[in-house]
Amino acid sequence: MSSIYIKSGTVVSATGTLDADVVVEGEKITAVLPREPNLAISAIADRVIDATGMYVLPGGIDVHTHMEMPFGGTFSADTFETGTRAAAWGGTTTIIDFAVQAKGTSLLATLDKWHAKADGNCAIDYGFHMIVSDVNDTTLKEMDACVAAGVNSFKMFMAYPGVLYATDGEILVAMQQAARSGATVMMHAENGIAIDQLVAQALAAGRTEPVNHGLTRPPELEGEATSRAITLAKVAKCPVYIVHLSAAQALEAVAEARDTGQNVFAETCPQYLFLSLDDLARPEFEGAKFVCSPPLRPKDHQDTLWRALRTNDLSVVSTDHCPFCFKDQKELGRGDFSKIPNGMPGVEHRMDLLHAGVAAGQLTLPRWVEVASTTPARMFGLYPRKGVIAAGSDADIVIYDPQARQTLSAATHHMNVDYSAYEGMEITGRVVTTVSRGRVVIDDGAYHGDPGHGIFLARGLNQYLL
Ligand SMILES: [Zn+2]
Repeated sequence: MSSIYIKSGTVVSATGTLDADVVVEGEKITAVLPREPNLAISAIADRVIDATGMYVLPGGIDVHTHMEMPFGGTFSADTFETGTRAAAWGGTTTIIDFAVQAKGTSLLATLDKWHAKADGNCAIDYGFHMIVSDVNDTTLKEMDACVAAGVNSFKMFMAYPGVLYATDGEILVAMQQAARSGATVMMHAENGIAIDQLVAQALAAGRTEPVNHGLTRPPELEGEATSRAITLAKVAKCPVYIVHLSAAQALEAVAEARDTGQNVFAETCPQYLFLSLDDLARPEFEGAKFVCSPPLRPKDHQDTLWRALRTNDLSVVSTDHCPFCFKDQKELGRGDFSKIPNGMPGVEHRMDLLHAGVAAGQLTLPRWVEVASTTPARMFGLYPRKGVIAAGSDADIVIYDPQARQTLSAATHHMNVDYSAYEGMEITGRVVTTVSRGRVVIDDGAYHGDPGHGIFLARGLNQYLL
């Protein structure tokens, strides 16, 4: 069993910082030692990492990714192999990806299919949520089997009529079913029926540019759907987790429900914190690079989201990583914004962008770790195996240099996509080393992992429920 001794760093956790050394044996952390010259231990470790001046973080957990996901006749451009490698470069050591039930197929067959895609290909550990698109008696029964198989979060869509959309009635019965086993329903909350009318009106009027993707999905329709999802969850007595919350109106609904004590949770994503409708409006079809749903919002929503991250109305930051290349994929929507594949790359930069938020005074250091690692682990049943640096936890550790400077660019990123949504953005801070279950996968500018190191994580229930 090989051992690593990480010395002289600052261990950052959700509760604070500690000058401590970390001992790793095999796949586990075996000790966190308050700083003293522990020469005896460091002398017998197989490897000593000097973390002087560095943060020692629990590995990032990105609970919202879409690797090689089918969408509109194409697939998102990162495979499980390329996407998990890029995640490791950026200090993320666990992803939870979405298996997508196609209409007319079974949940368990879907789960098998996604296992086959990921198995043997991942550089870091992974779990699955299940997207339920076809609610019927068989599906409802299979939800319990999914929970038994370690998949206890089910995503549903109030958007995309005719594809993934579920009616209020379907959502209600699926929520009732989830509630019986303690599972959480994750909701894409946008009023897709109304949006489709606005899209048709825009196209009929010749408004075909990418910015219309944003203009036809107004924040009010996210607010309305969020509020409706919360009401349905209340009636069904089911925990609900609002994915990729982007709008102040939606946040208001979440905050109000949380104040009443309902089991309502929400995440946002870096693109909603750093980018805006102005990016969707970039000329020469450049805006297509920023098409995702919900859409990027006017800039004034950003401060509201940052504040909610501080007050815990937003509990998690995930990426909704769903990359499509500009060439050949995003270009499918030239002349018709509704045909632009929805999604943006991001799995590699979440930790860095949030650290930029720390540097800008938007988040404290412990809160950074909390929203990027500890809360995701607790929310999706992985804690304390993941999400914390403590004896007995998996040795998923990131050594982070808070002083380093880097410029985000497609020329240097590791995601399998031909553009960066943050091209040219300067960031303070950078991952130096990423350790996944005791294995050094990134160190000093090189990748040392291999596909197949990452294993499937059967997850427990949401740990925030009373
Ligand atoms: Zn998504």
